[in-house]
Amino acid sequence: MNTDDSTTGHGFSTLGIHGGAVRGAPGDSVVPPLVQSATFLGGGPDDRLMYSRYGNNPLQELVGRKIAALEGCEAGLVLGSGMGAISSVLLAFVEQGDHIVASRHLYGATLELLEVELPRRGVTTTFVEPTDVASWREAITDRTRILYLEAPTNPTLRIVDPRPAAEAASSAGEARDIRVVMDATFATPVNLRPASLGVDLVVHSATKYLGGHSDIIAGAVAGSEADIAAVTTMMKRYGAAADPHMVWLLDRGLRTLEVRMRRHNENALALARFLESHPAVEQVLHPGLESHPDHALAQELFPHGTGGMVSFVVRGGGEAADRVMSRLKLVQAAPSLGGVESLISQPRYTSHRAMTAEGRAALGIPDGFLRVSVGIEDVGDLVSDLEGALG
Ligand SMILES: *Cc1c(COP(=O)(O)O)cnc(C)c1O
Repeated sequence: MNTDDSTTGHGFSTLGIHGGAVRGAPGDSVVPPLVQSATFLGGGPDDRLMYSRYGNNPLQELVGRKIAALEGCEAGLVLGSGMGAISSVLLAFVEQGDHIVASRHLYGATLELLEVELPRRGVTTTFVEPTDVASWREAITDRTRILYLEAPTNPTLRIVDPRPAAEAASSAGEARDIRVVMDATFATPVNLRPASLGVDLVVHSATKYLGGHSDIIAGAVAGSEADIAAVTTMMKRYGAAADPHMVWLLDRGLRTLEVRMRRHNENALALARFLESHPAVEQVLHPGLESHPDHALAQELFPHGTGGMVSFVVRGGGEAADRVMSRLKLVQAAPSLGGVESLISQPRYTSHRAMTAEGRAALGIPDGFLRVSVGIEDVGDLVSDLEGALG
C-alpha cells in the first residue's frame, strides 16, 4: 500500500474512499449522488456550460480528482474507455510530421493506433526494446513528442522501467517538449505510481482493476493541469467521454481498490508458487517469483505487490492448454482482467490471435501458454481448481 501521497497527506486506502471529495453538509448523501443527466441548467452570459461530454458533470469532476489523488498528480480525467484515454492522450500531443518512440510490448489496440491510425495522419512511431535502456535516447529525433510504454506487459508480465525513458526525455531538454506516457493498467496505483518515477501522463483501462468488477468500460488519465486540459479538449472533440452511470460505478470500485489489490497481489503470488511446483507446468511467469527475468526490478519498483496476473505454460502445448481450460470449474474462460472473479485465457485465441504460432513463440508465448487474471476468491479454492484441471 502506498501511503506517500504528497497532495493531501492521506494514505492510499483513504484516498480511494475520500480522494477528491468535497466535505458535505447535514442532509447531503454520504455517497456522491449519481447525476444521470446529459446537460445542466445555465444559459446566461456568465454561466459555465456543463455538459457530460465535456467531462464536467459533478461526478466526472469528483472522480477525476480522485484519480489524480491516487496517482499523486495535479489533475485527472475519466473517459469512456481505456482506448478513449490512450487515443485522446496521443492526439493531444502529436501533429502531422511528429514522431513517437514506443515500447514494442503494448496492448494490441494501442499497437494498431501507432502502426495503422497515426501513420494515416502523418505521425510515425519507432518501436524499441524497452529493457535496452539506451534505446529510448537513441530513437529520439527532432520531432519526437511522446515516449510511450506499458508495464507490466501482457501476457509475459515483463516489468518495463519508466525511468530510462523519463531520463531520455528530460536530457533532450525542455525546449523539445517530450512527454512520457505510461499505460499502468496492469500495475494500478496501489502497486506503482509512475508519476513518482518521472512519467508525465499515466493512463489506465479503468475497465480492469480500477473498476474491478468486470461490469464497466472505462478509461482514466492523470497528469499536470495543463496536460489534462489538453486531453480533455480531445475528449470533447473526438467524443470519448464517460457516461455518468459508468462514472458512478467506477467511483464505487475505487473505494475498495486498495483492499482488492492487496488480495489480488497475495492470491496471484500464492497461485504462481503453486503452479511453479506442479510437474505438469513447464514455466510460470509472475514478477514476484524469483525465477522471473525482472524479479529484482519488480522488488524495487513494486514493493507493495507484483499484481494479480499470472501466466504459465503447460507441458503438452496447445492441446494440453485446451484440456486445462475445459476442466476448470471455478476459474472461467474469458478475455479481460482485473475483476474480482478469476478469468483464464490463451493469448493464441485472444490478444495474439492474428499472429502465427512461430511469431508468438518468438515473443515468449508458445502454444500451451495460459494467462490467469487471479481474482479475490479464497486462494485455496483457486489452487484446488487448477490442481484438478492440471490432473
Ligand atoms: C484493456 C486494456 C486497454 C484497453 O482498454 P479498454 O477499456 O478496453 O478500452 C489498454 N491497455 C491495457 C494494458 C489493457 O489491458
